[in-house]
Amino acid sequence: MTGRGGFYIGEGRVLVDTAPPRLPTEDEVQVEVAFVGICGTDLHVVHGTMDHRVTFPQLLGHEMSGTITEVGAGVDDFEVGEKVVVRPLISCNECPACLAGHRHICQRLVFLGIDAPGALQTHWTVPAHILHKVPAEVSLRTAALVEPLAVACHDVARAELVPGETVVVFGAGPIGLLISLLAQHRGARVLVTDVNAARLELAQGLGLEAVPEGLAGAVERLTGETGADVVFEVSGSAPAIADATGLLRTRGRLVVVGIHSEPHPVDLLRVFWRELHLLGARVYEPQDFDEAIALTAEDVLPLDRLVTSVVPLDDLSEAFDQLQSGGGAVKVLVSLDSTR
Ligand SMILES: [Zn+2]
Ligand SMILES: [Zn+2]
Repeated sequence: MTGRGGFYIGEGRVLVDTAPPRLPTEDEVQVEVAFVGICGTDLHVVHGTMDHRVTFPQLLGHEMSGTITEVGAGVDDFEVGEKVVVRPLISCNECPACLAGHRHICQRLVFLGIDAPGALQTHWTVPAHILHKVPAEVSLRTAALVEPLAVACHDVARAELVPGETVVVFGAGPIGLLISLLAQHRGARVLVTDVNAARLELAQGLGLEAVPEGLAGAVERLTGETGADVVFEVSGSAPAIADATGLLRTRGRLVVVGIHSEPHPVDLLRVFWRELHLLGARVYEPQDFDEAIALTAEDVLPLDRLVTSVVPLDDLSEAFDQLQSGGGAVKVLVSLDSTR
């Protein structure tokens, strides 16, 4: 059997080529990949900002769903034919972060799809301990959103959100929308903002309150002179982090989710004056995956509506172009099965 895969070959270019399936060793499982989501991190990879971590040619992808095709001899908790998703993090278990119980932000973390071969191939062989089972009734298409939903679960957990709180979300891409939907599901009042009008329109269509401008007024309308309880900064932009502190109540929480590749100014006088909490939130822990899978099985969030297109592997370049164009594309899934 000759498999195929989607590779990053450097200088902004992706290539679809053969990717032979690998049989699992003792503790591994081979998965027939159904769908792979393309996200902002993949765009960063293809833009070359992570070239120092990549071995060329690099199989991309870390958001996926699939079905088990082979099980290593030492694996007893998984069977051929089961639907699964992969939590694409491999920790060293020895560094200070791992020893403190923060394995998901291991100081020598291997992120599959950047530091090691990713999911964008017809068959992916991974250690069994990073697999999570998906209930049979969940479609493989929806299951491909478990990874970004697990990010949202982690972010909301870091915020220690309480029902009835007022939340502001900067950024209406997939993660910002998932955080907004999850916070609303948990009983929060949510305001979401973005500079992209198409994304705000989608947010509105999902039942969220989308605020194109005048965020301070919107927060005041909901909370009077109190301020928002939580701000999630998901945009990675300088204006957002500059505005975020001004919207928070005393002892409010600012959760930094977006990737700020350069240092951006933060109003530390405001952090001091209102005794704000500044929290980082990165990837997810195993329990965030469990929670995301449970939410997907309960079918309580409009996950499918975040998928703006599904493309075959052969159209990989076009998928990246769609996302880079800054139009209405939110979540693009690549289908690895040419018959689908
Ligand atoms: Zn991602
Ligand atoms: Zn470690």
